Amino acid sequence: MKTRSGRPIVSSLMTPGAMVRRLRSILPVAAALALWIAPCAGAEHRTEVRIGVLAFMGPEEAESAWGPTLDDLNAALPEYHFTMSTGSISFLTAAVAAHRLDFLITNPGHYLELKIDYSAVALATEQDLDGPPARRSVGSTIVALNRRLDLQRLEDLKGRKLAAVAPDTFGFRAAALELLGQGVDPFQDAIPLFVGYPVSAMLDALRQGRADAGIIRSCALEELIAQHKVGPNEFKVLGHAPDEAFVCKVSTRLYPGWAFVKVAQTPEPLAKAVAGALLAMQPGRGDKFWTEPDDYQSVQDLYRTLKIGPYAPFTRLGMAELIWTYRYAVFLAAMAAIWTLVHVIRVAYLIKRRTRQLEEAHELVRLKDAKMEHALRLSLMGEMASSLAHEINQPLAAILSYARGCERRLARGENDEGVRDALGRIATQAQRAGDIVRRMREFVRKNPTRQEPTDPVALFQDALALFEPSAASRELRVEADIPSRLPMIRADRLQIEEVTINLLQNALEAVDGQIDKQVTLAVVQKDSSIVITVTDNGPGLAPDARERLFEAFYTTKPGGLGLGLSLSRSIIESHGGQLSADDRARPGAIFRFHLPIANPMEQKSLSRPQERLDV
Ligand code: ADP
Repeated sequence: MKTRSGRPIVSSLMTPGAMVRRLRSILPVAAALALWIAPCAGAEHRTEVRIGVLAFMGPEEAESAWGPTLDDLNAALPEYHFTMSTGSISFLTAAVAAHRLDFLITNPGHYLELKIDYSAVALATEQDLDGPPARRSVGSTIVALNRRLDLQRLEDLKGRKLAAVAPDTFGFRAAALELLGQGVDPFQDAIPLFVGYPVSAMLDALRQGRADAGIIRSCALEELIAQHKVGPNEFKVLGHAPDEAFVCKVSTRLYPGWAFVKVAQTPEPLAKAVAGALLAMQPGRGDKFWTEPDDYQSVQDLYRTLKIGPYAPFTRLGMAELIWTYRYAVFLAAMAAIWTLVHVIRVAYLIKRRTRQLEEAHELVRLKDAKMEHALRLSLMGEMASSLAHEINQPLAAILSYARGCERRLARGENDEGVRDALGRIATQAQRAGDIVRRMREFVRKNPTRQEPTDPVALFQDALALFEPSAASRELRVEADIPSRLPMIRADRLQIEEVTINLLQNALEAVDGQIDKQVTLAVVQKDSSIVITVTDNGPGLAPDARERLFEAFYTTKPGGLGLGLSLSRSIIESHGGQLSADDRARPGAIFRFHLPIANPMEQKSLSRPQERLDV
């Protein structure tokens, strides 16, 4: 790195290592300079002048190239303190817009944009002492491997892969103009491949066959050959434009070098002083020196033809150029899109898996509920079994007695009339016993739950018929208040019977031991519901029972399961109804449940079975 004494402070992105190296190298020189300038004036009294420098290859490279110019300015104009700010084109343009810069050292294309947008004026044009001794020295060279016999002229690049550093470099744009002139649009007729810095990366792309030709800045090939990084005959130059005065092989016309630019807000005396100092600089001290400003018309023509830079609003960016320009945003957007996609797929998968697990769990719960309901029915039937057996016994005994009577009448040769009457009675009793057995079998049957239009009158009378023998055996008076006609309900008949018998059985157990025992089953229609009430005259609910009545396994009975009411409530709720308990009208408890009546279509679709069971 070429560092000089009195080097201005560089405000730019710099690695800490580079900063330490820089400080170490300038400290002794800075100390000497401080001693030299101390008698004259303190640096703090000097007016600061900020120079923005385009750094397309990083701040160190920029400072190495342009630091000598700042050293010379600081030496020539000691009343000013020149400092350097390096950055990209957009960074520098924003700094100009914010009036944070007095001068810029930038490439011809950027200068053109500043000239149009911010009335910038070039004070001087750079000349490279190490480069060719030509006034115009900026152009580009299109190279291909020497052995590629199929590539001789620029037209041969149609349909080929064309490597370049980046689409927004001046070299690529200069080459694009020449290619267009030969009917090859680098974006449409060729396949562009942008490899970034250093230039040698592009030559590697050619060697490895990833690209057919590459665009490099003028004289870069000669420099690499001189450094033995490239063989003298390894590459050839396509579209060589002979220029007698120019020592390097170039494929494009030549353009003026970088410009030292003043902006609209730069004070005129300062601009004049700086212009004078630049032109007075003696070549030989640094790599570059400055001549009077060149005519940048050729750059303007280039930009206008390519419709880029200040002329861009009139054209659309090519897809490749667009992607390259916004490559970081595109990369982030692509990452975000991929992440979102992965996330969506994962969430969808998780939802599917959880839904399946939930369905399985529901099915398990449903099966368990069904098993428990069945167990409750069996338990209720167990409690009613002996009374029902007794109930069946009665018609059987009657049948036996009528049969014996028939035998006797026939033995005595009596007339047919009495026998026919007895046979009729036998049939009635057999029917009665058969009905009891049918109801018992239906009640304990393991049926899949199915809600369908059901006649509530028949349902509650069946439940009552099953329960009444138990009531009779415990001397319980059961009052039934069931109208002869009610609208249909949509119900699982067995489940509602089970709930009703469970409430009646609880009532029976509540009044057990009392002298006066009374239970009422009342069914009424209220609005669009059927309301069923089971009332007893027992002791009412135990103090803590009011809160916990419907909890599973809550019981106050020595042999109780504590499942009846909790199952009953879930059955009624699955029918769209409600089950509640009340003992405010003591003595006794009232259990009440609602069931919605079926819709009008279902009312009509079913013809009500009118026959009442004979119990
Ligand atoms: P179980 O009958 O097995 O105890 P239930 O869930 O049917 O289970 O009843 C839970 C509790 O509710 C009973 O133990 C009892 O304390 C109370 N209970 C139910 N019905 C009545 C009633 N008619 N009168 C007073 N208490 C009742």
